[in-house]
Amino acid sequence: MFIPLRLAALSVVISLVSLGLKVTAWRVSHSAALYSDALESLVNVFAAVMVMVALKAAAKPADSEHPYGHAKAELLSAVAEGGMILFAAVLILERAASTIFVPHLPSAPVLGLGLNAAGGLVNALWALALGRSGVTRKFPALAADQAHLVADAITTVGIIAGLSIAVLADLPVIDPLIAMAVAAQIAFMGGRTVLRALSALLDRAPPAEMVDRIHRLVATHAAGAIEAHDMRIREAGQSRFLEFHLVVPGTMTVAESHTICDRIEGALKREMAGVIITIHVEPDHKAKNEGILVK
Ligand SMILES: [Zn+2]
Ligand SMILES: [Zn+2]
Repeated sequence: MFIPLRLAALSVVISLVSLGLKVTAWRVSHSAALYSDALESLVNVFAAVMVMVALKAAAKPADSEHPYGHAKAELLSAVAEGGMILFAAVLILERAASTIFVPHLPSAPVLGLGLNAAGGLVNALWALALGRSGVTRKFPALAADQAHLVADAITTVGIIAGLSIAVLADLPVIDPLIAMAVAAQIAFMGGRTVLRALSALLDRAPPAEMVDRIHRLVATHAAGAIEAHDMRIREAGQSRFLEFHLVVPGTMTVAESHTICDRIEGALKREMAGVIITIHVEPDHKAKNEGILVK
């Protein structure tokens, strides 16, 4: 197993431990707020399993059936994860709505809150470890996993603070209100996850800074050519595809223009591992006087 896969597997185990603690917390307290936190943890478990499956699928090299590789598997798993988060939000809202007119304080509040806090702490420590290891910078699926864990830990802190106030001030209505706030927060998160992944599935362009860097690299390594235009870049998970037209003097030999192409490709591949580049060479009367002008 390669490292991110092993981390993803460990994530599953850790989220199961956290889920166990939070479900027990809900069972002893019958609190709507702790129910919402337990459901959120259940989503975490599913998400962690899916991250594992997605990393495995995305790592498969291109084959004749999928010649562009399998990187989009990671984005598909993010869509499914977001959908599950939205579903959890609906379940929480349903429970909160059914208790808001007959609210009751959590039973066994100290034990319930203690167990819930322990579950939150497990998640927080794991999120911290993932962040420190640096793997989240390389693997979007693990980064999403970590962001989810951080949000979860913050939610847990809010829930515990709110429920403590409810118990101390004898205000049982706070319990379903917290659950509703949790539902709203995770619905927002789930919606954002789905929209981002869908946009990436539609071959979103990379961030502007990266496009600028690519333009500069082409400009500085294309000596002998005149300009590069019609550049298109698309990203899908960890794979990147780049294509453009390279205008060269019409009298240049094929061999010479190919040398320029290889030089540009080499520079780009040093900068972005695994980028797949297609360059279409054109004679000078095809120049558009736009795009990347080579000095
Ligand atoms: Zn052209
Ligand atoms: Zn070649």
